[in-house]
Amino acid sequence: MGRITLDQVTKSFGDVNVIPPLDLTIDDGEFVVFVGPSGCGKSTLLRLIAGLEDVSSGQIRIDGEDATNMAPAQRGLAMVFQSYALYPHMSVRKNIAFPMKMAGVPEDEQKRRIDSAAAALNLTDYLERRPGQLSGGQRQRVAIGRAIVREPSAFLFDEPLSNLDAALRVGMRLEIMELHKRLDTTMIYVTHDQVEAMTMADKIVVLRAGNIEQVGSPLELYRAPRNEFVAGFIGSPK
Ligand code: ADP
Ligand code: MG
Repeated sequence: MGRITLDQVTKSFGDVNVIPPLDLTIDDGEFVVFVGPSGCGKSTLLRLIAGLEDVSSGQIRIDGEDATNMAPAQRGLAMVFQSYALYPHMSVRKNIAFPMKMAGVPEDEQKRRIDSAAAALNLTDYLERRPGQLSGGQRQRVAIGRAIVREPSAFLFDEPLSNLDAALRVGMRLEIMELHKRLDTTMIYVTHDQVEAMTMADKIVVLRAGNIEQVGSPLELYRAPRNEFVAGFIGSPK
């Protein structure tokens, strides 16, 4: 589960076209990074996949089903936001439980999923604390925990580490990669940071002004950038 296909997807805001017709296939279990300069349409593309924005035209398929007009909650995806958006007055446990409560997951099942997510994220000892009593990295892990318990077929990350300092960012990258290995679930990760893209991705999608400049593994992009933009952005010797 977790195969996502975009077929001739476009997005305009008023008269301004942000995503020209775009085709993309994300395979089951892949770690895909959307990378490109600020304003190139990374967040918009992710929000279209999540269903937080409607496409202007084209089709989005998730696990073989036409998801173009599905509500976000029906798509089976979970978004991890950059601003942690945790509830400050609720414990970590309640923050993580919240989406399951909304979805009507039975209490004992909620508990099982919270315990499992907390173990995976090293949060077992922090479940009764409030977000304000946690470090930045721990808060980010709670936000990821809240996504895990929904058991999504894919995780969507929008620059999740941009609020963390450089040293912590390196550690969190490793944690997210470890989580990907453990869960074996599709992850789409948006960043403007080339190093993050090159170190984390199975597949990199390089965007410029809503256009896909190139898709490939980090090594493919490094060895054979298709044009000067990709070469410059990825840092290829050219
Ligand atoms: P990125 O995430 O790569 O920085 P975005 O997807 O946020 O880029 O934005 C791409 C372009 O779309 C930008 O020019 C931005 O101003 C525009 N845009 C994004 N969301 C909206 C919106 N809701 N209304 C109008 N323009 C928008
Ligand atoms: Mg963005």
